[in-house]
Amino acid sequence: MKKNLLDFEYNELVEYFKNLGLEKYRADQVLDWVYKKRVFDFENMTNLSKEHRNLLKEKLFVGVPKLLDMQISKIDRTTKFLWELKDGNTIESVALFHSGRVTACISTQVGCPVKCSFCATGQSGFVRNLSAGEIVGQILGIEINRKVNVGNVVYMGMGEPLLNFDETLKSIRILNHKKMLNISKRRITISTVGIPEKIMELAEKNVGVRLALSLHAPTNFKRDQIIPLNRKYSIDELIYSIKKYQETTGDRVTIEYILIKEFNDYPEDAEKLAEILKGLNVFVNLIPVNPVNPDFYRPSHWAMERFKQILERHGIESEIRVEKGTDIDAACGQLRRRNLKSK
Ligand code: SAH
Ligand code: SF4
Repeated sequence: MKKNLLDFEYNELVEYFKNLGLEKYRADQVLDWVYKKRVFDFENMTNLSKEHRNLLKEKLFVGVPKLLDMQISKIDRTTKFLWELKDGNTIESVALFHSGRVTACISTQVGCPVKCSFCATGQSGFVRNLSAGEIVGQILGIEINRKVNVGNVVYMGMGEPLLNFDETLKSIRILNHKKMLNISKRRITISTVGIPEKIMELAEKNVGVRLALSLHAPTNFKRDQIIPLNRKYSIDELIYSIKKYQETTGDRVTIEYILIKEFNDYPEDAEKLAEILKGLNVFVNLIPVNPVNPDFYRPSHWAMERFKQILERHGIESEIRVEKGTDIDAACGQLRRRNLKSK
């Protein structure tokens, strides 16, 4: 079976080429075509001999996913992509445009096993993990379909990156490698629902990307109701892991907090949140819930401002997230598998 070239890290590819009888500089040439010139057909890699092109074609393919649908927001150019993978499964990505930079919001799983009650992906069930190449392929797909260079990457699409740990870390090494996408680790963010041992492993392994924690509620009583995994990893354990993470990395961590009307938007929730975050170096992103679940409503603007002010009073910086691509339902982290093809 042919292998996806995007699944290879640099050293793996050099080794693979060596076994095919190709020198290291041949691997460099191919990587230059794929990641810099964005040519994905070996046939068009004109500095390789016909013989080498044929050999590579026989063994490898460049797994940029097939575009099934692309919606572009008329308001802010936010673009949502629906991709088909080799096995017929579909995933989504989003491209966000702000002040000249493009941020790619990418998926790590087909569906998600965590099943948060407010999340469209969670409601669609879990099918499988993506490979590193399938994660990276979304970025190349965005670049060629929108003719842009992706500058920032957020692992906030479908799925829980820390439950697909090895492939997620591998994809980061590929994104970061000079001869590959060459995206700085400081421009890459992993968003996680919170798996304490994996958060600590990120720190121990010195992965170097930014971290965002989807907290969404200040007490176990409330968090249990919307994030089933909270029954396994309590808020105490999560906060402890963030503390350890910061001790090792010195990094500021983003706390994501979805505001749901008359559920977690009360002044006492803000007070409690400030209390559990005390002593940590955090920035809180307040996100008005996207009513995927009809039981959840967004708070009034006034209630959100009140929440923010309480955090501020406790010295915690926060921001009410400005929504992008509302006309095409593209908000990052709110992706669902629509247009499911009947198999
Ligand atoms: N599994 C990871 C990353 C994907 S979800 C995580 O949970 O962090 C990315 C972000 O979108 C998370 O913060 C998630 O909580 C948020 N999100 C999901 N559904 C949402 C909704 N209906 N409204 C607002 N944000 C939502
Ligand atoms: Fe999974 Fe994140 Fe959605 Fe929860 S919010 S179901 S962890 S993708």
